[in-house]
Amino acid sequence: MTMISVKSLKKFANNKFLVFSCILFLIIALSTVTAYSISARQINLSFIEQQLSIASETIRLRLATSVDSELALVSKMADTPVIRQYFMNPSDPVLKSRANDEFVLYKEHFNNKILYWVNDVDKIFYSTGNDPYIVDPDDPDNYWYNLTLYETEKFIFNINYNPDLEQIYLWVNVPVFVKTETGKKPVGLIGTGINLTDFSDFVVSSYHKFDKNITTYMFNKYNEITSAVDYTLVENKVRLDEHLGETGKELIRVARELSGGESQNFIYDKKMYLVSSIPAMEWYMSVSYPVPGLLSLNQAMNTVFFSMLVLIFFMFIVINIFVARSENAMAKRNLQLLEANKKAEFASRAKSDFLAKMSHEIRTPMNAITGMAELLLRGELSSEARGYARDIKQAGNNLVSIINDILDLSKIEAGKLEIVPVKYMLSSLINDTVNIIRTRFTEKPIRFFTNIDGNIPNSLIGDEVRIRQILLNLLSNAVKYTEKGHIGLTITMDKQDDKQVLLRMDVADTGKGIKPEHQVKLFDEFVRVDMKKNQGIEGTGLGLPITKRLCAAMDGKLSMESEYGKGSVFTVIIPQGIESKVPFAVVEEPERKKVLVYEGRAVYAKSICWTLENLAVPYTVVTNQNDFAEALYRAEWFYVFSGYGLYEKIKPLMGEGNPAFCGEKKPRLALMVEWGTEAYIPNVRFVSIPIQSLSIANTLNGKADRRDYFESSDVIRHTFPNARLLIVDDIATNLKVAEGLLSPYKIKVDTCLTGVEGIELVKRNKYDLIFMDHMMPEMDGIEATAVIRAWEKEFACQQIPIIALTANAVVGMREMFIENDFNDFISKPIDVSKLDEILNRWIPAEKRANNNEQQDKPPGNDTYSSLPVIPHVDTAKGVAMLRGKLDTYKRVLSMFCKDIDERLPQLQIMPEEDTLPTFIIQIHSLKSVSASIGAQELSSNAAGLEAAGKAADMAFIREHLPDFTVQLAELEENIRAAIT
Ligand code: ADP
Repeated sequence: MTMISVKSLKKFANNKFLVFSCILFLIIALSTVTAYSISARQINLSFIEQQLSIASETIRLRLATSVDSELALVSKMADTPVIRQYFMNPSDPVLKSRANDEFVLYKEHFNNKILYWVNDVDKIFYSTGNDPYIVDPDDPDNYWYNLTLYETEKFIFNINYNPDLEQIYLWVNVPVFVKTETGKKPVGLIGTGINLTDFSDFVVSSYHKFDKNITTYMFNKYNEITSAVDYTLVENKVRLDEHLGETGKELIRVARELSGGESQNFIYDKKMYLVSSIPAMEWYMSVSYPVPGLLSLNQAMNTVFFSMLVLIFFMFIVINIFVARSENAMAKRNLQLLEANKKAEFASRAKSDFLAKMSHEIRTPMNAITGMAELLLRGELSSEARGYARDIKQAGNNLVSIINDILDLSKIEAGKLEIVPVKYMLSSLINDTVNIIRTRFTEKPIRFFTNIDGNIPNSLIGDEVRIRQILLNLLSNAVKYTEKGHIGLTITMDKQDDKQVLLRMDVADTGKGIKPEHQVKLFDEFVRVDMKKNQGIEGTGLGLPITKRLCAAMDGKLSMESEYGKGSVFTVIIPQGIESKVPFAVVEEPERKKVLVYEGRAVYAKSICWTLENLAVPYTVVTNQNDFAEALYRAEWFYVFSGYGLYEKIKPLMGEGNPAFCGEKKPRLALMVEWGTEAYIPNVRFVSIPIQSLSIANTLNGKADRRDYFESSDVIRHTFPNARLLIVDDIATNLKVAEGLLSPYKIKVDTCLTGVEGIELVKRNKYDLIFMDHMMPEMDGIEATAVIRAWEKEFACQQIPIIALTANAVVGMREMFIENDFNDFISKPIDVSKLDEILNRWIPAEKRANNNEQQDKPPGNDTYSSLPVIPHVDTAKGVAMLRGKLDTYKRVLSMFCKDIDERLPQLQIMPEEDTLPTFIIQIHSLKSVSASIGAQELSSNAAGLEAAGKAADMAFIREHLPDFTVQLAELEENIRAAIT
């Protein structure tokens, strides 16, 4: 118990602030009590003062009244003719008897019934009516007698002490005069006595009622004490100043200043005095009350107050010092912490720097190792050696990807990871991500779908590269840890205001799932869980921590839900700036565009329905042939969306002019294809799964995204025989394609392969229009345009319309080009209707002529039968894109081979950090050029590599580039074989 209380007391004392507040409280309490008792004592004191003065006044009045009345009686007697005559003739018996009667009569009225007279001056004796007393005038005791007779005209008082009775009397003596010729002559005196002992006792007892310490004195004008507790003082006529010394002198001094009936109080030498005058007797009364207690209390209080002030001041200083010291201590501690922190940061940065350097250093030889392994694999090897070489390559690639992760992590830790917000297109971000990830789906029976909210603004501001990295990490984990089922990427908005949108990106899989006890540690570095089940799956345990930190660096967060054995959902919520509010995908008048969806693959059907619902398009979904046939004729459909594989089945039902269609209106048909791997089918649109939002919106809005080949080959309205046009593109194939497409317009076309050459040509010739490729090595289209615009300004030339050529046909591109002084843009592969529109718009009207020539007809079956057959190339599509001109197509194909010849050696060298930008440009060109000849597969593989290049995903490039170059070489061979 004691231990506890001591402990708690210590704890209490440790709480310095509490102690200080207690002390402060005590001080305040003490001062309150003190102030209270002081004021109580003060009230008490003034009460005593008041009581003293009332009592003194009463006494004074009482004495004065009795003295006055006795004196009046005596004076009256002395003035009586009978008495006067008797005193003149004391021996006359008649007079004596008459005088006696008079005395008896008067005596009755005196207070003490005492009356004496001296009726024979010469004989000097006096009588009280009974025994006569002899007065000896020489006795100093009888001085009153002589005084009364000879010195005082009216009366004189004297005091007598009777030792036998122990009483003091005040005698009032009045002379009796008779008139003579010479004046007045005393013949005797009459007197009465007032018992002063009783009076003094009364006075003393009145005061003692208040306090035993009260002392009273009375003294006469000779300063003799006339009343006191000690009778000897009165008896011996001791003077007040003799008895009380300096105090007596002070009392006398004050008494002298009083006029009749006044009183005054004062404090002298630790006592309170009240001095009053009794004018009737010319006496004074002094009452004293010792106030040392009060005074010392006062002083003590003053001392207490003063000490309290000092204490408060002291406390104030102590508290201040304490606060200052604790602040100092805190500041010191903070400084120490800061320093420790700095040291830790320095150490961590040193570690991260070291890791960064090391990983960089390791990556270079790793390149050599994987490169050499690749070379070995290309050569002649025994199967055993080939196996080893493959293992070396695989292990090397894995090591490089681990190193990349470590590099990322060390960058994050060293604070070197910069989030670089740029304008970007959500559509191209999704495109690139899906293009990369699709290559990982090849070996597993997994369906992949995306649900993208069409209302999300497409043009956003954020770190596109890092967001892509986050999505790729999560998606590749989903692929790694899922054996079958599906994986879905859903992007929606949690919140949106004018400037920001809160993107919610879910990556859901039907994979292994994660046990609850493992979920908590997943985001720690180098943690891999459930290793038994995940055996054989490569990984470092760095993907999720990196992803989490990237999210945090962008003010976002990463969370996860998972059910073991069923699957996981990883959710990223991240704010992104809004560059423009134009939504990602919108369907115009959606309510009028009813869609019948026929899709047997449940996951895709669900995803398509999600998208249609999101776009507010009414739809019905059927999953089998009978339901489809029934639904098809039941209502009027704007479009039928069918799975690509079902085309043969539905073809008979969708026949032209079928009267069974509601209102005899045949709905349009769009086939839903995975990864855009479709072949060409006339009059059929294609909706690309998994990124279907934009594709569906375009289809329903009647806009082109994929080509409706022959439908879009619009009529050529005008030709421009006098116009001159320049095309700048680093790929000769593209130039050939463009030339081919432009030939019907009869324009004079110049071409060149670099921006620099383009500028030179502009300076030399007068062009009406320039088509400028965007991405070119050395000087890109934007730079070249800037130079041309500056030159035009310098020489005050009219601006030539410059149209950007780009393979990045995403929303928002137009704005970007216009900002960079382009006039418009056209995407590659070139859409002829768009080309026609651009020519009509930008070439001056005076250079325009009406086209009277026969329009190009869609190629007939003949054309198709004579189409070259090239593996992996949709030649029909290629020809269609060139307005069905087989000749042009063949020329384009041979140009393509030449291009590949030139580029292949460059692509066979693995890009380094510094050569990456050139690599991206090369691969980007190949993407568009292969799409324009109909080599869709190659084009999408190039797209995957381009996206990986943009995300600096070297591991991906290293893994896929060799296959790509082989594919490219094969394609070249196949094309050559087909066209020669
Ligand atoms: P790595 O995949 O390189 O091992 P990560 O940090 O990306 O490292 O993931 C850590 C662990 O989390 C993985 O080893 C795996 O066990 C688990 N994991 C991550 N994603 C999933 C998923 N989608 N499904 C099941 N398990 C997962």
